[in-house]
Amino acid sequence: MLIRPYLDDELRPKACSEFLAHVQNCEECRRELENSFIVEYALQYLDDDKIDNFDIKELLDESIVQRERRMKRRQILTVLTWLSIIVMGAVIAGILVRLLLPEVFSYAVDVFHDISSSYNLN
Ligand SMILES: [Zn+2]
Repeated sequence: MLIRPYLDDELRPKACSEFLAHVQNCEECRRELENSFIVEYALQYLDDDKIDNFDIKELLDESIVQRERRMKRRQILTVLTWLSIIVMGAVIAGILVRLLLPEVFSYAVDVFHDISSSYNLN
């Protein structure tokens, strides 16, 4: 089950989205997540007096919303990173083509001249 990795924030964005989508529709997993969340929260705020009057469902919903937001940001960041890599690759390729194409072109002209002049000599 993915509840432990979810609570430890070890799921990749895609797996996390799938997990949260499943939990929204699966009563059993939802309850298991709630129970784990309660234990997690209780351990974290053991000395806190607020623990007596907290709404665990509300807290869990809030934490899920926050997690979804963070995963979305992370996914957007991943897309942006790939886009910038692609754009940079295209720019570098463009620069290389501009630098190398005249070389290739003048080399081809040289070869053509060599061939035609050798034909003229014979
Ligand atoms: Zn389930």
